[in-house]
Amino acid sequence: MCLASNLVKEAAAHADSAAAADKALREIDHEKTTFTRREIESQRHDLVIIEDRVYDADRFQWAHPGGSLFVAMFGGRDGTLAFQSYHMRNFPHEKLRPYLRGRLAPGETITRFDQDHLELSKKLGGAAPYFAPRHQQYKAAFIWVLAFALEAYALTVKRSWALATVLGFLYAMIGLNIQHDANHGAMFKDGLKNMAWGLSQQWIGGSQVMWLQEHVVLHHMHTGDVHMDPDAQMAPAMRGYSGSMYLPWMVLQHYYFLLLELGYWVVPNIGHFFEVLAWSHKFEYPLSRLAMPCWRTQSTLLHLLYYVRHIILPSLVAIRAATPDEVFSAVGRELAVSLWMSTVGGFYLAFFFFLSHNFDGVHFTEGANAGGDCLYEADSGFLKQQAASSSNVGGEKLCVLNGGLNYQIEHHLFPRIAHSHYPHISKKVRPFVTAKGGQYIHFDTVWDNLSSVHKYLKRFSDPLFNPVVKGPARPTPEEMGG
Ligand SMILES: [Zn+2]
Repeated sequence: MCLASNLVKEAAAHADSAAAADKALREIDHEKTTFTRREIESQRHDLVIIEDRVYDADRFQWAHPGGSLFVAMFGGRDGTLAFQSYHMRNFPHEKLRPYLRGRLAPGETITRFDQDHLELSKKLGGAAPYFAPRHQQYKAAFIWVLAFALEAYALTVKRSWALATVLGFLYAMIGLNIQHDANHGAMFKDGLKNMAWGLSQQWIGGSQVMWLQEHVVLHHMHTGDVHMDPDAQMAPAMRGYSGSMYLPWMVLQHYYFLLLELGYWVVPNIGHFFEVLAWSHKFEYPLSRLAMPCWRTQSTLLHLLYYVRHIILPSLVAIRAATPDEVFSAVGRELAVSLWMSTVGGFYLAFFFFLSHNFDGVHFTEGANAGGDCLYEADSGFLKQQAASSSNVGGEKLCVLNGGLNYQIEHHLFPRIAHSHYPHISKKVRPFVTAKGGQYIHFDTVWDNLSSVHKYLKRFSDPLFNPVVKGPARPTPEEMGG
């Protein structure tokens, strides 16, 4: 009783101080408060930049219908193009005025909405009609139930190489068909449902929060940016753009790239676990501190659960069944089976990821600073750069199997559109992009795409092949002041 009354008093005091803080905030003239990008990026992860304005991400995250994590991950960053690509419209500055905390200081670069992308978004009718249709939800449920049932069978009855192969493939299917849509907020309108289905990334051995950092915050917002896109950084294994380091073995990179993909599982299964502990992607890009308190703990615990399911439990079962002489070989076999499963799943994912952004003619740029402001070449913009740094392959059948990631251009332009809609919207996207003078590459078959990857890597295997990577058209100081 005493504890309860203390809690009530504490809550009341907290509510009073929160109300006082709110009142004080309302009384500040936020139009006159200015922030530098450096200040926000290094010290103010409670803020997010949209165009030239600075908003309170800490407060807004709890009001965001798509879930708090999306907003929290952009704490301390520029969220302009993220908002545009997810919401397919201009930012409602007037509506969100209560969350305004200031403006960018004069002289700072300002990321502007891409008018071409807004025009295409309008043609498509906005984001509202494009969540997962019923048949896509059934597909997701089927994959999930099958994977769960087979894993339960493997743990309680018998593990085998064949079963590990099937499970590895099913884990890749979960990655492509379930977690990817859900963690992009594309599966359901309800952010909580997306968050729950997005946890499937943890089930297959990755980290939901690190995936959001690597894929949503860095890769999607800066596709083909040689400084910011993690998928463009292939050194020291390979070299894919001029300016990247050259090492002797790269002379054979167009032959060994498929072998490297066999080891892709290390990135999500092990790398992301330690990156979450360090709260830093590649131990280099710091994550938003706004997202840290609960999401680091959640991700670490669920990652440990994955290790229990695939290392500890199979080993214990093997130890129980083995004679004392066979213990080491029995445990070794179980670990090898788990490793094989991860290799199969990881290879399938890496194979298709790599095809989409590493083809002959892919366009690299250097359009962003670390805090995420994004400027493009004079004749480019978000729409053109996204289309030119991705390629499509195949048609509707591959779309059903690979969760739409064969329609990579449509996905990169509109990541919050559920993948079942990509074949349909591609009929409008392709003519629009080409009419605007953008690049749109669609390979008819996986073999054609693979041949293009080979050609591209072969070009860069020559140390003298160094095409220019164009930089952004930085505005004049006078323009930046506006
Ligand atoms: Zn994506």
